[in-house]
Amino acid sequence: MKIVEYSRSLQWVGDLHCPACQQLTPAWRSSGMSECFPHFFCTRCSNVIHREADKALVWYEATPALLAQVAATLPACPCGGHFAPGAGPKCRHCHAQIPLVADPVAYLHNPNMVVSDGATCFSDVRPPYQVRIVG
Ligand SMILES: [Zn+2]
Ligand SMILES: [Zn+2]
Repeated sequence: MKIVEYSRSLQWVGDLHCPACQQLTPAWRSSGMSECFPHFFCTRCSNVIHREADKALVWYEATPALLAQVAATLPACPCGGHFAPGAGPKCRHCHAQIPLVADPVAYLHNPNMVVSDGATCFSDVRPPYQVRIVG
């Protein structure tokens, strides 16, 4: 699989704070201009999926009906989990969920996709790639 490395010194690389164990998980966050919406995390791991077809569907509005429509077509993750609304990335230390998604309907329009170190990003238009935070 393709691996994309991001340096720790980059503006869009930071740390997710775990509310359960208080430790940090390095992660890359896409800029607002990347328009990486909507995106959905796996229920079991930190993998994330972003599909252009979903973007077209929610371009004009984010509603519970549209969320349900998209959610019904979200695939399983290779880890055995499932991409789903409300899921978030996981702490690398205790595997608790990082609560990024407070409101799944509003989150449909969040363009800032967070891909933590070691997680894979899936798409409907390009091959998956794994993110690694280096340096
Ligand atoms: Zn933790
Ligand atoms: Zn997974």
